[in-house]
Amino acid sequence: MRRPAAPAASAVAAAPAAAALLLLALLPLSDLSAQVTAIRAGRLLDPEAGTVSTNQVILVEKGKFTAVGANVAIPRDATVIDLSDLTVMPGLVDAHNHLAITYKEEPESNVYYFTYVMDPTPLRAIQAASNGMQMLNAGFTIVRDMGNAGNYADAALRIAIEQGWLPGPTIINSGIIIGGMGGQFWPTPEMAKDHNIVYPEYLDADTPDEIVKAVRQNALFGAKVIKICVDCKPWGYTADEIRLFIAESAKIGLKVEGHVQTVDGARRAIEAGIWSIAHDVGLNDEMHKGMAAKGIFRAGTETPIALTGHTNPQRYERTVSGLRNAWENKVPLTFSTDADYYVPGKNRGEVAIEFIETWKAAKIPNADVLRAMTVNGFRVSETEKTRGPIAVGMIADLIAVRGDPLESIDALRDVRFVLKDGMVFKRDGVMTPAEFFHGGPVNGWRIR
Ligand SMILES: [Zn+2]
Repeated sequence: MRRPAAPAASAVAAAPAAAALLLLALLPLSDLSAQVTAIRAGRLLDPEAGTVSTNQVILVEKGKFTAVGANVAIPRDATVIDLSDLTVMPGLVDAHNHLAITYKEEPESNVYYFTYVMDPTPLRAIQAASNGMQMLNAGFTIVRDMGNAGNYADAALRIAIEQGWLPGPTIINSGIIIGGMGGQFWPTPEMAKDHNIVYPEYLDADTPDEIVKAVRQNALFGAKVIKICVDCKPWGYTADEIRLFIAESAKIGLKVEGHVQTVDGARRAIEAGIWSIAHDVGLNDEMHKGMAAKGIFRAGTETPIALTGHTNPQRYERTVSGLRNAWENKVPLTFSTDADYYVPGKNRGEVAIEFIETWKAAKIPNADVLRAMTVNGFRVSETEKTRGPIAVGMIADLIAVRGDPLESIDALRDVRFVLKDGMVFKRDGVMTPAEFFHGGPVNGWRIR
């Protein structure tokens, strides 16, 4: 993703203006983009192994890692970024966020149906762009954006980031959540049958034909994962219907996440072999054992107690013990927030990182919290072979923090540096996104 223009600017920074112009005129773009960035990492954290190596050098070229190690020679003309005082590590993943909605106390009393009515999709898309940058600022380089995004504001955000219009996390978006009629709401006939009143943001699919069509519609409009309401209604989807979702999505190369809120729903989703389950309310010891046996990801959306109004002490206690039980059962855990609301005084990234408190309360070892936030996040997003790990050939995303997150997970609260697609987004604790902005997409206008 590294665009030619930005490296050219740094390559010629030291040259006299006339020579710079000559250089620009003579060099083909491919040579300009071959500028090497060398990062000196005082400590380099490998979350897979749960280890830290010291004094490492990481080379980045054309937006990808080209060398990582202690004895890597820094090319003479490389741009050097000195992070010797920091711990460098892969970017974080939020496996369940809603960037294109922000409901709040005023004026909608935290009822997000009213947000649908009041905030049109273009505004929601701009909110999503802002929330995406706030997440990237907090170190989240990948976000799975799981619905409630108006009329595909999530796809607009993903495509805009891929085209290079603005910085943001890599987005794995679900399009519109598919459910039986009504989705997570109980609409009036006026809403549901004629859509004469703003309809809740769900795709109705009550029959096999409608299931196939809904999956194809989301794929057509840019979804990269399919999200379904397994049991938002008492009738919900059967295991066979969930299998149909999985089979139809697989034809398009997409996985299926289930919103699950009952034990029965969880049982059917697990029986069908769903990819990931969102929310923890339907997950007990038996369900966790089933998920571990089938390798089903848990996106438990474990709201911390500090986010007053979005959980309560009894609920939080169940959340903490459920997370602990999932870890004891070796369920593939992901870090997920379900962030879709405004918390006074906090931006979206600060809301998301607050969720480490629940993991601390569940006494999950820091190494496993880090694996949930990185390695398993890459796997649930299916990016593990293209981006995520700091390894040769991977797209160059990384973050750096003070201290050692293996010792204290709170180190993640102060992300000092963010590299995304080989470009610096944050440096010395300050967002510096200028390199990402430009007059037109160099890359990707054919991409959907
Ligand atoms: Zn959600």
